[in-house]
Amino acid sequence: MLNIMEHKKIEYKVKYRNIKYPRLEFRTKILQLILPFGADPKEMISKHINWIEKKQKFIADCLKDAERKKIVRRTEDEFRNLVFKLSQKDSRKLKVKVNKIYFKKMRTKWASCSAKKNLTINTMMKFLPENLNEYIIYHELVHLIERNHNKRFWDLISKRFRNYKVLENSLFSYWFLLYSVK
Ligand SMILES: [Zn+2]
Repeated sequence: MLNIMEHKKIEYKVKYRNIKYPRLEFRTKILQLILPFGADPKEMISKHINWIEKKQKFIADCLKDAERKKIVRRTEDEFRNLVFKLSQKDSRKLKVKVNKIYFKKMRTKWASCSAKKNLTINTMMKFLPENLNEYIIYHELVHLIERNHNKRFWDLISKRFRNYKVLENSLFSYWFLLYSVK
């Protein structure tokens, strides 16, 4: 059998856990494997090589695009004030009520919104330009009207952000830019 690893260089990290099903993730540009004890990482990689290569291409494109992006410098206060200002403005516009706003460094998302109407903001948003902060907050507030990413949701989004796909792509670029720094 041809061992794919011999001629394809794939950088990866492995974590072993007491789980039944293995998982592959790209939170940064490094592939992360979460495997049950005893599983062989190489086998996992060759099995999912197409998916891995597609993801790697996507991330490389994001990082290339990110070369043109600027990381914004703000103080903690400036950042928090911006978040409060934007969420106040947009919650009024959307007629939704936000309960509390939490700030936390997150590994998997820019922000989230709970059933209790609490907004959690990833502190990494501090480095994003204002229009992306605006988009993320608006996106989360629309989730208070529609939980799922369905047609109704995207219709509401595009009323305000007709170019939301460009913004979503830009967020991927920033994500890999900010999270792939070692
Ligand atoms: Zn969403």
